[in-house]
Amino acid sequence: MSKEMKALVKARPEPGLWLQSAPVPEIGPDDVLIRINKTGICGTDIHIWNWDEWAAKTVPVPLITGHEFAGEIVELGRNVTELSVGLRCSGEGHLIGKKSRQSRAGKFHLDPATRGIGVNEQGAFAQYLRLPAFNVVPLPDDIDDDIGAILDPLGNAVHTALSFDLIGEDVLVTGAGPIGIMAAAVARHAGARNVVITDINPARLALAAQVADVVPVDVRSEDLQSIMPRLKMTQGFDVGLEMSGNQAALDQMVEAMTMGGRIAMLGIPPGRSPVDWSRIVFKAITIKGVYGREIFETWYKMIAMLQNGLNVRRVITHRFAVDDFEAGFAAMREGSSGKVVLDWTGA
Ligand code: NAD
Ligand code: ZN
Repeated sequence: MSKEMKALVKARPEPGLWLQSAPVPEIGPDDVLIRINKTGICGTDIHIWNWDEWAAKTVPVPLITGHEFAGEIVELGRNVTELSVGLRCSGEGHLIGKKSRQSRAGKFHLDPATRGIGVNEQGAFAQYLRLPAFNVVPLPDDIDDDIGAILDPLGNAVHTALSFDLIGEDVLVTGAGPIGIMAAAVARHAGARNVVITDINPARLALAAQVADVVPVDVRSEDLQSIMPRLKMTQGFDVGLEMSGNQAALDQMVEAMTMGGRIAMLGIPPGRSPVDWSRIVFKAITIKGVYGREIFETWYKMIAMLQNGLNVRRVITHRFAVDDFEAGFAAMREGSSGKVVLDWTGA
């Protein structure tokens, strides 16, 4: 008989998640079994909770959700020789194929056959997770489980922020959600001159100012153009990081960019959204879409930066035992939280 564990399951095709019993996963020869200590709640998990159109067409039911985690290896598949039982780790939640042109060129994050844990495959909101050994990222002793549990979104922030050279540049981040705030902190750490972050939620802007040395701008009451003289900027922003998914924010960004500026877009607009392309052409702006993290270059960079003084700990605003997961999801759904971390160690 298989062993049972607690897991947060999308058990029915309707809003909500349910903490219930599920079999401990059986691992294959190239997998490891990870005992989960901490997990982060992501915006994606909120879509799955809400069971919106995207979730309903993407997520199979039943499914264990969650993809942001830190834990410890408790079992090794028979082919796994490079890892050991007891190793603390996080891991890449994108399961990639090895057949595509991109994968064979080592650009794993561009593999079109990618599947996500907690989205297409059984996820990390559970006491145990099966993961291919390939996806494991060992955690050094100086990176604790709280930070380990938010490396996935920090990776989105790092991948986006490091898309373009930031040293000495003026950087605009639109959207002070957890990822925008972390991207602003990364831009600062990486040597930007000014980092301005916009939002329409004062609580989020206040949090941004606590986490990093940034200039918060509430675009409902302040105009980006009026900020520039105060920062001794003469032309506009050199690098833009779009982290809101909001069309008005992208418009404002394009307006505030310098000629020849560069924009990395992580934010996902809810559907088709109109864009003033002629403005982008006449300003000779480069736009790069960003998906996920570079496997494993982003992981390497972010761990190195954390060890070298990047501090994003204050972006974690709420911590709950997993039995109180409903309070954790409520904090996220309410819209002013930073990262919310669930603790599985007492489950
Ligand atoms: P979030 O929803 O918590 O934050 C978005 C923020 O944008 C909110 O604080 C909101 O108030 C703000 N906003 C709304 N309108 C605005 C405007 N006009 N100007 C400035 N800010 C505005 O999201 P998050 O978890 O921080 O993620 C950021 C974005 O990245 C989301 O769109 C998310 O879907 C996307 N995302 C993409 C990937 C990827 O691989 N491309 C991965 C993770 C997240
Ligand atoms: Zn995530």
